[in-house]
Formats: sequence, structure tokens, C-alpha cells
Amino acid sequence: MLNKFKTFLIRSMQGRNGPDSISRSLFIPIIFLMILSAVVNNSIIKIISIFLLWALVFYMYFRIFSKNIYKRRSENDAYEKRINYLKRRIKERKDYRFFDCPNCHTHLRVPKGKGNIIITCLKCQTKFERKV
Ligand SMILES: [Zn+2]
Repeated sequence: MLNKFKTFLIRSMQGRNGPDSISRSLFIPIIFLMILSAVVNNSIIKIISIFLLWALVFYMYFRIFSKNIYKRRSENDAYEKRINYLKRRIKERKDYRFFDCPNCHTHLRVPKGKGNIIITCLKCQTKFERKV
């Protein structure tokens, strides 16, 4: 019985995206909105939080059961890339400052404590001045 159910679950998820980093990270704001909508007395905030809660739940299930795996994977890869960049920024914030190139928006990392310097973009060679 349990094996049949397990097989049914596996079969029904075939060809679908399944849980990924984006859908998993939606779990925290969903729990927060559940608590907020239960605790708050203001009816406007309650309605907005319940609306947002359902929107996030719908989006999470949309991602998990989506059959457009290629598109969901590329969205997830872009999300993970962004998260990893932010983690790196936090980890290295004591020794480096981070800038985006004004021309091509490439992320650039510069050692801290050098005063006013001219930064040259590694990708497009644009020069710009910043205080580090
Ligand atoms: Zn550039």
C-alpha cells in the first residue's frame, strides 16, 4: 500500500520541476505571513497579508508542478547565482568593497582602504572613480 503510494507520487512528479531553491526559500515568507495574518488585528494588513500568502503559495506550487523545466531551471540558476554573490559580499565585506560597472553592470570587487581610486572594469574597460 505504502509502496504503491510512493510509486504514485514519483510518477506524478515525472516531467515536472519539483522543489528547487526558489520554492524552498518561499517557505520562510509564507510562514511569516501565516503568523502575521493570524496575529494582527488591523483588517487591511490582515487582508493584504492573506492575499500575499496565497500569491506566494500559488507561485510555490506553480514552480514545483511546472512542466517547463528548462525555464524554471534557468530562473533558479539566476536566483542561486544572485544569492551566492550576496553571500560572498557579506562574507568578504571587511576586506573588499563591491561595485557594479556603470556601463555593463558587471560585479567588481575592490580591496578596502585605498582611498579614492579609479576602477577599471575587467569586462568592458570602463573607468570610474570611487572611494574605497
Ligand atoms: Zn563594464
